[in-house]
Amino acid sequence: MSIADFERYPLTFGPSPVHPLKRLTAHLGGAQVWAKREDVNSGLAFGGNKTRKLEYIVPDALAAGADTLVSIGGIQSNHTRQVAAVAAHLGLKCRLVQEKWVDWDDPGNDKVGNILLSRIMGADVRLDPSGFDIGIRSSWEEAIAEVKASGGVPYAIPAGASEHRLGGLGFANWAYEVAEQERALGVFFDTVVVCTVTGSTHAGMIAGFAALQDAGGRPRRVIGIDASATLEKTRAQVARIARHTASLIGLGRDLRDDEITVRDGWAGDLYGIPVQSTVDAIRLSGRLEAMIIDPVYEGKSMAGLVDLVTSGDIPRDATVLYAHLGGQPALNAYPGIFEA
Ligand SMILES: *Cc1c(COP(=O)(O)O)cnc(C)c1O
Repeated sequence: MSIADFERYPLTFGPSPVHPLKRLTAHLGGAQVWAKREDVNSGLAFGGNKTRKLEYIVPDALAAGADTLVSIGGIQSNHTRQVAAVAAHLGLKCRLVQEKWVDWDDPGNDKVGNILLSRIMGADVRLDPSGFDIGIRSSWEEAIAEVKASGGVPYAIPAGASEHRLGGLGFANWAYEVAEQERALGVFFDTVVVCTVTGSTHAGMIAGFAALQDAGGRPRRVIGIDASATLEKTRAQVARIARHTASLIGLGRDLRDDEITVRDGWAGDLYGIPVQSTVDAIRLSGRLEAMIIDPVYEGKSMAGLVDLVTSGDIPRDATVLYAHLGGQPALNAYPGIFEA
């Protein structure tokens, strides 16, 4: 088996753009920094990394004869917004459980941004008071049962589309896409920096890049930056999904522990709550590159990138690819951060 053996339902514009971040690179005075932009990868409600994962999950949902996609996330989940978008695009119904993963009291947090977009796209949005957890939730299982009881055919997509057997394939394919873009651009990214929470984005990349390396490619570092603030859970989930995805795409060996790197230090104490380094990274990226990043995910991974380059952990001669996974709609739910 290889990645090419899995059916992919196109939901993106094609390969996502790759470009250098020249002013950020000059500012950091270290490695060459580029970005690959999942925040502009699709015309479906702003896209993002979950849209790429769903490209490999939709064929399974259609084959199952589903009429309703059922998923779960926080109130400002980017993932549930992308599930709502894909359901609208396919003419399916969508039932979403939105839990109170983040205690953030900006007025409008449960009205604007992602949840607003999901409502516009016709999803059946239900709020639930449960707190943050990247695992399987009872509220989601109940939603699935309710769809069944009312005569529907649900298709269950877990939080972040991660605990799904096909959830890692979208970003295994991303690795192959990067390799093609490198050939076209005449560049090699020896370091990839990616935000990780539910894990299948980072895990898919690990599997894909391992397969490329085993096929004769040069080695590279894939650095996951934790934004879950539940580090051990995320680390275990990334390792499990990476190994599963590697076996799906026919890696033919176990992944080594040194291929699975989740770094902490930028998540703060809680998922979804920005800390000073998050806010600084958002302003830096906006001021230097007009590249907008969010307070839940990419603000934290960018803070990690800035520190790793500045400290020399990522050496001066490195060429770094920053995976921008989307998420800007959530900014609207955090206006208070930037009023000062
Ligand atoms: C979901 C998400 C992530 C984290 O991806 P996982 O696959 O859950 O680890 C990072 N950034 C954004 C914008 C996201 O929506």
